[in-house]
Amino acid sequence: MKAIQVIKPFEVAIVDVMKPEISDGHDVLIRVTSGGICGSDVGIYNGSNSLATYPRIIGHEFGGFVQEIGKDVSSVKIGDRVAINPVVSCGKCYACSIGHSNVCSTLEVIGVHRDGGFSEFVKVPEGNVHRFSTDFEETLLGLVEPFSIGMQVNNRAQITKGDKVLIMGAGPIGMTILQVAKSRGAAVMVSDIVSERLVRALAMGADAIVDISTEDVQNRVLQFTNGEGMPVVVDTACLPKTFEQSIALASPAGRVVVIGLKSAPSAIAMADITKKELTIIGSRLNLNCFETVIESFEKGSLHPEQLTTSQYPFEQIQEALNDLVAHPERELKVVLTF
Ligand SMILES: [Zn+2]
Ligand SMILES: [Zn+2]
Repeated sequence: MKAIQVIKPFEVAIVDVMKPEISDGHDVLIRVTSGGICGSDVGIYNGSNSLATYPRIIGHEFGGFVQEIGKDVSSVKIGDRVAINPVVSCGKCYACSIGHSNVCSTLEVIGVHRDGGFSEFVKVPEGNVHRFSTDFEETLLGLVEPFSIGMQVNNRAQITKGDKVLIMGAGPIGMTILQVAKSRGAAVMVSDIVSERLVRALAMGADAIVDISTEDVQNRVLQFTNGEGMPVVVDTACLPKTFEQSIALASPAGRVVVIGLKSAPSAIAMADITKKELTIIGSRLNLNCFETVIESFEKGSLHPEQLTTSQYPFEQIQEALNDLVAHPERELKVVLTF
């Protein structure tokens, strides 16, 4: 079968590899139909993802049809449409024991730490497979994972009806956070430097947009919140500076959500956190979000089709990567079809 392999930084190829075979009773073999290219795939490609080892079959946003099942599999059957949660955890460490398996001490992500889903077939454990109950569009099955990130942020920040939220960054993850927050009845402001992305955020339901290349975000936040500051700030720009800004823009008793994986420090004074009694929250991957995201896709409260800006057959991975890197104004999620 064919798979997309990053051989070493800046070298990606379609390779022929052995089709995986069921070996454990709880194995599920998936025929992949679609995958979303993520910023972290680009990071493995260009060598900036510190977690990656090479060579690697990439892809952690993928879905398809169940092709074959092990003898003990009971939650899915052959022919089911499914999405795969790429988070693999041990079930025994402290984090797992208190129900936070998404930050397991020996966490592995399919497509990052081990070979991923950008291949014609992939074998995964039953517990990572989540089924659709309708004939949902095949090319969108791979987009459950990015929406699970948006849902996790909303869960971690306990975003609810009436909340006011600033999302810094209108990239794919910012957009999934926006869609989930709007589906919960929050009022959402989105900031970015790319005006085309802000126009898209408005179309997806943002209540206000701020082009930080021409506007003062602090003023706009104060207007939006009657001078209070922002109750919830989510930093998806993930720069040392934007983390500092998030702290400054948050209201007293506000929540600040951080999702970046960069190690460069920010300059933040203790007093800024104490005086406002801020809650600073990390959000990583997802915890039990797949079922809810799938239900929301099926009932139409979340819209993966609005996230998709281009589709490429998987053989054209090089063109797809080039497109994604060269055109942030045009592309949100580039979907590969298999
Ligand atoms: Zn991703
Ligand atoms: Zn664990």
